[in-house]
Amino acid sequence: MSWLTDYVRPKIRALYTRDKPDVPENLWHQCPSCERMIFHRDLDGNQRVCPHCDHHMRVGPDYRFGALFDEGSWQQLEMPKSPPDPLKFRDQKKYVDRLKEAQAKTKAVDALEAALGRIDGLPAVIAVMNFEFMGGSMGTALGEGFVVAAQAAVKHDAAFIVVTASGGARMQEGALSLMQMARTTVAVEEVKEAGLPYIVILTDPTTGGVTASFAMVGDLHLAEPGAMIGFAGARVIEQTIREKLPEGFQRAEYLLAHGMVDQVVHRFQLRATLARLLDLLLRPDRATEARVITDVPPERVAPPKAAEVGGKVDAEHAEPRK
Ligand SMILES: [Zn+2]
Repeated sequence: MSWLTDYVRPKIRALYTRDKPDVPENLWHQCPSCERMIFHRDLDGNQRVCPHCDHHMRVGPDYRFGALFDEGSWQQLEMPKSPPDPLKFRDQKKYVDRLKEAQAKTKAVDALEAALGRIDGLPAVIAVMNFEFMGGSMGTALGEGFVVAAQAAVKHDAAFIVVTASGGARMQEGALSLMQMARTTVAVEEVKEAGLPYIVILTDPTTGGVTASFAMVGDLHLAEPGAMIGFAGARVIEQTIREKLPEGFQRAEYLLAHGMVDQVVHRFQLRATLARLLDLLLRPDRATEARVITDVPPERVAPPKAAEVGGKVDAEHAEPRK
């Protein structure tokens, strides 16, 4: 025992082992597209879009609510609890354990969260799928939550907006997860019967049973740039049809060009685009105004090209064959 061991050594050890609570972890993120490193503040300040290559990173419900609703105008809807693990399913792990892990990680009941609020002053319910929660898979709890969100939109005379991100149906719930496809579609029908708009925002990735149900029955389909949207994976399709698939297959831009998506909207423009659409759809008087503004006198309308009249070649406007 000496002054050195009693006093100096503990001091030095304390210097190295002290917890550093004010230094956050993961200060740098690697872009999955261009693989460059991005400082976390730069990424957050850029709406989680890569400043180098414009890749849109996946974001969860909390982020979407904050980005799309008017500040302080929204309130989260309570998602119903459904009986966990109806089939007592087990693969490498028990399904109940997987559920508990996902719930602890995301602090949510299941892969869907919804909130009621205002977008540019207009009422809307936004339901957001969380890919972090078991790949955004659709089980009974998600179906139940979707119905609650749709009914809230009807009750409050609000537009219903869904932000999708999903790997498809939740296989741990077998046929029960497939039943949610019909269930969610019926919930959408209730919104439409109430005369309210249903808008789908397709984000990366939207696949499987979600694409085959509520994600494709919107009044309008918006998509984020580069989002993968499809039913089966490209590799499976290639193996089945034994053909090489075209470039950009199942990407938002490809689907826009082929009529499955109405508009590809950059994340920076998403809120403004929704505000404009809701203004047109929820205020009929404004829609009439817009129509008047865009009405062009008939003599100034250019004759449609053959391709624009549904493939029917109008003899008068047909281009001569070469
Ligand atoms: Zn990048």
